Amino acid sequence: MNAQAQPSPVRAGQTERVVPFQSGDGFQCNLLNIRGSMPPNKGPVLLVHGAGVRANIFRAPVQTTIVDYLVAGGYDVWLENWRASIDFKPNEWTLDQAALYDHPYAVKTVVNETGSPEIKAIIHCQGSTSFTMSAMAGLVPEVKVIVSNAVSLHTVVPGFSVLKLNLALPLISLVTPYLNPQWGLHAATLPAKAISLLVAMVHHECHNPVCKQVSFTYGSGFPALWRHENLNEPTHEWVKQEFAEVPISFFKQIGRCVRRGHLVSVTGTRELPADFAAEPPKTTARFSFFAGAKNLCFLPESQRRSYEFFNAQRKNYHSLNILENYSHLDMFMGQSAARDVFPLMLAELEKQN
Ligand SMILES: [Zn+2]
Repeated sequence: MNAQAQPSPVRAGQTERVVPFQSGDGFQCNLLNIRGSMPPNKGPVLLVHGAGVRANIFRAPVQTTIVDYLVAGGYDVWLENWRASIDFKPNEWTLDQAALYDHPYAVKTVVNETGSPEIKAIIHCQGSTSFTMSAMAGLVPEVKVIVSNAVSLHTVVPGFSVLKLNLALPLISLVTPYLNPQWGLHAATLPAKAISLLVAMVHHECHNPVCKQVSFTYGSGFPALWRHENLNEPTHEWVKQEFAEVPISFFKQIGRCVRRGHLVSVTGTRELPADFAAEPPKTTARFSFFAGAKNLCFLPESQRRSYEFFNAQRKNYHSLNILENYSHLDMFMGQSAARDVFPLMLAELEKQN
């Protein structure tokens, strides 16, 4: 366990049940099933977090989280802690592993636990890229509607991030197998101290060292993953405990994807396409692509291209929502996301085909 202990994020009137599941290659993951005081009257919806965080990233200290919003809307809410979760021992994961081994088994567990043969999913960032890989490879046929935030099939990043992936990553990979925004608080090793010093020299946008390390790690902005004006103060403080190790193995894969412009697999397994944009997707799921117009981790062009790809496969079926005043994670953590974002996501979940 890397992340710091914290008060329970479970709301009054809600219950949380931890459901462990074993991935296809034996990695121990889990699901958190959140329910309200009334039994759900709609089907299950699976929420999949990004890299170097955990399922709890969907439960920021705001008045109404996406979890609260979905529970209130009658949904049976399931949060997946896949192998990138900082609740687990750091491991050198790839998107391929998550796509092949974690998400299909998470989906099967939700189907088995609920008895519902069909489920919906809300997927974010690297939870979204890897889950999109699962879907496109035909590994999660039970998932009928997918709301994707920030990035999915296409991977377009700012020019400075391309430079970092191409020039800095090979050097960093020589000295550490992980990056860790916790280094802003405690830098024990020489590489950690050096990167902390660099971040402190370059980033002056706020006084939260983890917030600044997150921007260094994941993007090209000040900050990169949210607009400060979209976060309340408790959430800006809370991020200190919600980001930890992310492996260089992941950055090497996403670097290859960025150079190609879209997802590619790195393991050479026959179960995944080598190039995900080279063949029609093996899924009938309806995709709803979301992006913040001010995202400085993955540019909104990523989701535009993915929408165009899927729309070319099946016209007038998928959708695209670009939100003008949002960035990356503030789509979920923003103090006004319950007003600006969640109603749109709920409408996409409930849209009739
Ligand atoms: Zn900050």
